[in-house]
Amino acid sequence: MKWRGRRKSTHVTDRRGEAIPRSSGSNAAAGLLLGFFFRSSRKTKLAIILVAIFAFTFFRGPMMEMIGLSELAPTEQSHSGQNDEMRDYLSVMMADNETVWTNVLAKQGLRYRPANMIIYSQRTQIPGGIADARMGPFYLPANETIYIDPSFFSELKEKFGAKGDFAEAYVVAHEYGHHIQNIMGRLQELHTQRGTVSKKEYNQHSVRVELQADFLAGVFAHHANNTFKEFLEAGDIEEAMRCAEAIGDDRLQQQSQGSVVRDSFTHGTSKQRAYWFQKGYTTGDLKEGEKLYTLPYSQL
Ligand SMILES: [Zn+2]
Repeated sequence: MKWRGRRKSTHVTDRRGEAIPRSSGSNAAAGLLLGFFFRSSRKTKLAIILVAIFAFTFFRGPMMEMIGLSELAPTEQSHSGQNDEMRDYLSVMMADNETVWTNVLAKQGLRYRPANMIIYSQRTQIPGGIADARMGPFYLPANETIYIDPSFFSELKEKFGAKGDFAEAYVVAHEYGHHIQNIMGRLQELHTQRGTVSKKEYNQHSVRVELQADFLAGVFAHHANNTFKEFLEAGDIEEAMRCAEAIGDDRLQQQSQGSVVRDSFTHGTSKQRAYWFQKGYTTGDLKEGEKLYTLPYSQL
């Protein structure tokens, strides 16, 4: 993919090199509370339990869940330092997504608004908690921000054999796809299902949403290639598809636990992820992706 010399987004913040927050301040607070709990009287204990149940039920916060790229198992990893080439690359990718989606959504009569990106290293503060690089890249609907530690790209290369700048473009476009779903109202739907449907049903809905993000990444590639001069190079689409396959639920589960539990899938199989990316790329048509919500689950 050719990317040098194109516009850079102004919605990218580079937090690498900033002080890294401790992994969880709330753990310490919980420890203090637990200590108090065990030392308190029976009546106080009961009151604390009631308050805790109330708080858990009503204050889980709207749209605070993170919409990640895959079910990658947490791994410890080393981190590359400040890398301006990486910041330039990600800023161009964000700008490309801004250009493409402004046009595509306008044709649907939808008003586009830009997403933000925060590049960080190891850990960073997010509203209501701390992001950890081991979670992989994700989109946070609460502040419409994509969080990414670029060391994830090295992990993709080394652990999953998914290399190339277009594999990385696919990752950014998938997360941007979640932002487009947020504008289209698809994430809110998933959010309202949390806790109201069975785990299995929720997971199936999650798979539809994740496959649509892969589809939207394909739609991005289709329109970017028509918009920018010499965008795609030979082998780019294959790079993205190899990457989509590498992070399929079945492949990741097979690698980490040696077996596959289909009901626990949240992102779709390797085959499904590559299929829907390609479908988005060949059609470039948002309507095709809406089929993900009408097709029976077994036919995705
Ligand atoms: Zn995702």
